[in-house]
Amino acid sequence: MDYVYGPGRNHLFVPGPVNIPEQVLRAMNRNNEDYRSPAVPALTKTLLEDVKKIFKTTSGTPFLFPTTGTGAWESALTNTLSPGDRIVSFLIGQFSLLWIDQQQRLNFKVDVIESEWGEGAKLDVLAAKLAADTDHTIKAVCIVHNETATGVTNDLSLVRRILHEYRHPALFLVDGVSSICALDFRMDDWGVDVALTGSQKALSLPTGIGIVCASPRALEASKTAKSLRVFFDWKDYLKFYNLGTYWPYTPSIQLLYGLRPALDLVFEEGLENVIARHKRLGQATRLAVEAWGLKNCTQKEEWHSDTVTAVVVPPYIDSAEIVRRAWKRYNLSLGLGLNKVAGKVFRIGHLGNLNELQLLGCLAGVEMILKDVGYPVKLGSGVAAASSYLQNNIPLIPSRI
Ligand code: PLP
Repeated sequence: MDYVYGPGRNHLFVPGPVNIPEQVLRAMNRNNEDYRSPAVPALTKTLLEDVKKIFKTTSGTPFLFPTTGTGAWESALTNTLSPGDRIVSFLIGQFSLLWIDQQQRLNFKVDVIESEWGEGAKLDVLAAKLAADTDHTIKAVCIVHNETATGVTNDLSLVRRILHEYRHPALFLVDGVSSICALDFRMDDWGVDVALTGSQKALSLPTGIGIVCASPRALEASKTAKSLRVFFDWKDYLKFYNLGTYWPYTPSIQLLYGLRPALDLVFEEGLENVIARHKRLGQATRLAVEAWGLKNCTQKEEWHSDTVTAVVVPPYIDSAEIVRRAWKRYNLSLGLGLNKVAGKVFRIGHLGNLNELQLLGCLAGVEMILKDVGYPVKLGSGVAAASSYLQNNIPLIPSRI
């Protein structure tokens, strides 16, 4: 039963978990079955092949762990590194902070490069560290592609360029939890060694699959990496891949049946069209924020995120009250400000299986809430800015051309 019923649909605009398409919900509504029958391995084989397309890799090896993004982080780290290894990690918001905490608790020696929240990774500091590290003591560079807490997207091609410039062999580990399958992400082109995402974000599934993709170099590193690992050990998966049965332990069967249409919907729309749609949703949201006279938490245009916008509220407003009201009065779910930016920002998630008119509903709701909490907004101003942009930029629906 719903905690408290509200008529109509909840407008779910947190930056994950996101709306699940009907096709996916229907596909998951099925009984359990024997995962050792031929059916589940046959399905798994297609999923492993197709999931590579959203990472833009042909040489990577994907793993579908029954876990969340946090487990996927652990899998990436423990399979490639040994306790005491020196790694470089960027702290730019709550999720990079949590990943760094995990890295430290796993006993890696972490060089933290910190930015103000709202700014991107300081790549000049990375360059200086790599230049000084002639003995190659740095074993990995870890970066969150899209910091979901602040709406900051880092330029991964630059990270690869810097690694290349200094001929540095450090592994390149990327958290793509709120970017992969929504933002431009190219595992092979950018030489990413491990990339990961979670099913509840751009793929628009329930939470429960952590997708980790390893480059040949990362697989090689896993042969000598000494970190303790059991549940997340790639070796066990590879053994069953070779046997053609795929699963070292019980997979989440319904989620696998959901992943099939989730991927099909992406391919039907076209991955590039999916990315372009997220660009439109991001731009429309930013135009609305500007029309309201509010600031984006993201400090520079080059870091603007097309999957989440963190909106800074004036000091006399508590952003948590905006989120509370949104849910209580308008059946709208917005993202809270986290940690350092708690009370200061609220977040509009615009990722996954979402269209422009849904977004306009959210923006209309935000305007009413802003007025409720005493912010002098002109009702309709953000919606007008967003819709006039969208009206000029929405293409025909690809499958209906
Ligand atoms: N990384 C990023 C960028 C995230 O946004 C999140 C969650 O929102 C995580 C990691 C953690 O993922 P999970 O909550 O699925 O463990």
